[in-house]
Amino acid sequence: MAFDIDELRVKPNSNLDLSKIDPSGTPEWSNADEDGGSSNKDAGKARGLELNQRLEELQELLYAEGKHRVLIVIQAMDAGGKDGTIKHVFEGVNPSGVKVAAFKAPSSLERSHDYLWRIHQHAPADGQLTIFNRSHYEDVLVVRVMDLVDKDRWQKRYEHIANFEQMMVDEGTTIIKLFLHISKQEQQERLQERLDRPEKNWKFDSGDLVHREKWNDYQKAFETALEKTSTKDAPWYVIPANRKWYRNIAVSEIVIQTLESLQMEYPPAPADITEMHIPD
Ligand code: AMP
Ligand code: MG
Repeated sequence: MAFDIDELRVKPNSNLDLSKIDPSGTPEWSNADEDGGSSNKDAGKARGLELNQRLEELQELLYAEGKHRVLIVIQAMDAGGKDGTIKHVFEGVNPSGVKVAAFKAPSSLERSHDYLWRIHQHAPADGQLTIFNRSHYEDVLVVRVMDLVDKDRWQKRYEHIANFEQMMVDEGTTIIKLFLHISKQEQQERLQERLDRPEKNWKFDSGDLVHREKWNDYQKAFETALEKTSTKDAPWYVIPANRKWYRNIAVSEIVIQTLESLQMEYPPAPADITEMHIPD
């Protein structure tokens, strides 16, 4: 059975209740058994490898054709799997055509401009696929939850963002937005692992605990952001992300099916090429 990515899409103007979406779920995964047991995981990983190859081909085509710009926005709570998704889903794609832009707390120069200033310059060019690890959505997420600017200022941003993205779409960019949905308990386990495993210590940030205390506020902020900015042309997808193998499959399916919908083609050979021989 085909994986129907529409099942994960946030419909425009819908009410989103994240507490009703199981972060351990495996929707559209046809091999799923009740307990998501290890054979399921193995089958999932095998499927992940196939999808990875297909993505490699499509990215090559995107680059060769040089017509479309593709932007993938990834948002999640801390330890939600943003880095792992990028690492696994895009493994093996040609780095010449792929860029990752990670957005941290803005520098003083960035803060001295409007919040989209630092974002726009990283938007993809023709033939390029760009992944945003965090994005302009932080300006209605962390900024809202941690009260970093007044409410009457961040409240207007949903509309700015929808318009900004529509402008990019109208000018030839394809936008995919992914929310990696984990449970609070899964976050606890992953953060604890960062403390317990020496090779993961570098990822531990005690600041994450401050955000964790505001878990419910963040869930609300995500719900509002996704409801207000999931449009036909720049849709949000909610990916159940407690199971990493499922998360990777779901993200790969969304990216692959979106790229396939562009109906890209290799550019035609220049005239006379079949008659040509490379001289000795
Ligand atoms: P990490 O992704 O773990 O490297 O953490 C980056 C940090 O930067 C997170 O705590 C984000 O919430 C924070 N951050 C990203 N964008 C913004 C922003 N526009 N305003 C404030 N903090 C931000
Ligand atoms: Mg972090």
